Amino acid sequence: RGFSVGLGGGIGSGKSAAADRFAELGAAVIDADVISHELTGPGGAAMPAIEQAFGAEAMAADGSLDRAAMRRLVFADASRRAQLEAILHPMIRAVSDARRDAAIIAGAPYAVMVIPLLIESGNHRDRFDRIAIVDCSEALQVKRVMARSGLAAAEVAAILAAQASRQARLAIADDVIHNDADLETLRTQVGVLHAKYCALADKMRD
Ligand code: ATP
Repeated sequence: RGFSVGLGGGIGSGKSAAADRFAELGAAVIDADVISHELTGPGGAAMPAIEQAFGAEAMAADGSLDRAAMRRLVFADASRRAQLEAILHPMIRAVSDARRDAAIIAGAPYAVMVIPLLIESGNHRDRFDRIAIVDCSEALQVKRVMARSGLAAAEVAAILAAQASRQARLAIADDVIHNDADLETLRTQVGVLHAKYCALADKMRD
C-alpha cells in the first residue's frame, strides 16, 4: 500500500504549515478535513445519510451540511456526535486510503495523511508506518487560533479542552515536529523528516 505517515496535532499546532512543506518536497498529502468538506458539500456523498439521520435541520439551502447547526447539535449531545462520526469517519477513511493508493501508483515516494483528530479517531497504528505529531505550547495554540479565526480566548480554550491532551498526542508519536519557533524552523524539521521517510519508503519497497 505504500509508506504512509499519519500527521496529527492539536488545533492551531501547525499541521497545515507542516503538510504544505511536505507537499512542496514531493510527498503526497491527503487531508482528512478537506475530504470531510467534500463529503459534506453540496451533493456530497455523505449528505443522504446525514439528512436521513439528522433531518432537514442539518441541511443548508444548497444541500450542503449546515455546519453551524451541526456544531450546536453535536456540542450539546455526545450521542449525536457519535452518530455523525459513525457516518463520516468510515467514508473519510475509505476516500483517504483510495487517494493514497492512487498517489503511490502515480509515483509519489510516500503519503502524508493529515488527521486532525488522529488519537480521538482511534485505530491509527494499523494504518500508518509512522506517526508524526506537530507540537507547540497550548498558549501558542490559543494565540494562533485567535489570530486566524477571531474566536475569543475562552472559545479556543473550550475547543482545546475537548481534544486529546498534549501528553496523549506525544505518547503516540514516532516523530515530533516542534513548532514553538518561526515557520522556517518548522520547515527545516520537515525537510529532515522527508529525507528519513524517503529512505524508509525505499527500504520498504526493496
Ligand atoms: P487546525 O487544526 O486549526 O486546522 P493546524 O494545526 O493546521 O490548525 P496551521 O493552520 O498550520 O495549524 O497553523 C495555525 C495558524 O498559525 C496559521 O495561521 C499559521 O499560519 C500559523 N502558524 C503556524 N505555525 C507558525 C509558526 N511557527 N510561526 C508563526 N505562525 C505560525
